[in-house]
Amino acid sequence: MYATRLDGVTDLPAFAEKRHNRGGIVPEKLTDLIAELALANRILAHEGVLDAFGHVSMRHPSDPGRYLLSRSRSPLLIEPGDILEYTLDSTPVRPPKVHLYAERVIHGCIYQARSDVMAVCHHHAPAVMPFCIAGKPIVPVFHLGAAMGAEAPFWDQHDEFGDTNLLVVKPEEGQSLARTLGRHSAVLMNRHGATVVGGGLKELVARSIFMCQNAEYQMRALSLGAATPLHPGETRLAGVISAMPTVVTRTWEYWSLRLAAAGAMPPRRGVKKSARGRGKARNRR
Ligand SMILES: [Zn+2]
Repeated sequence: MYATRLDGVTDLPAFAEKRHNRGGIVPEKLTDLIAELALANRILAHEGVLDAFGHVSMRHPSDPGRYLLSRSRSPLLIEPGDILEYTLDSTPVRPPKVHLYAERVIHGCIYQARSDVMAVCHHHAPAVMPFCIAGKPIVPVFHLGAAMGAEAPFWDQHDEFGDTNLLVVKPEEGQSLARTLGRHSAVLMNRHGATVVGGGLKELVARSIFMCQNAEYQMRALSLGAATPLHPGETRLAGVISAMPTVVTRTWEYWSLRLAAAGAMPPRRGVKKSARGRGKARNRR
């Protein structure tokens, strides 16, 4: 059926974009978006980007001065009811009784610095850690790896802040990280992990997963003797693919199905009133 719909279509990206905007692929209700954020947490955990730590957020769809992020909880366990609303200085809109992520300033500071960023993921994925420890760059080595862009700069917390526990908890630390990120799609954090940004939640999920796959392939290729990066033009052209609505939707369905097969889909109910913008937050514990 889908092939039939594409008959005669010569400009696939434009066609896909039109469908994307018109076809209800982007949920309109905040509750649906919050459910998607819970699902994104679980997908990224199930695909090995997040583990017990790491987090993913999205900018509030109707208030760019706020963002949505879970309470402190392992991403594979997150439910819609865990999602809270924060101002861009990373203060919860309604103070909850639950623990919050210590590194949430990463999200707030990037949203402050980058008006184009709609979603942020911070992680310590095993695939990227060797590069973060060795200080060796991750470069796109296959077409979907181009989702990360031509390069991801390094940010060494010690350079500016000396000895710390390496957690990014102070606004000035988050601001420094955001400065190094600049206009890039990802920043590598020496001896810590990576932070990835996207123009949308599903794009961010795809970029985060593809970047980890790319790092694994780069490492394996190095063991064979060489990891040849894409040519700059290839990176530019291939980088467009991963953001196409058709690709973003297809990968999202695939990763969702894998999560469902593992029996780890989030429940649909339980969105906190604080994140729906009315009433007081109900804190379970
Ligand atoms: Zn971290």
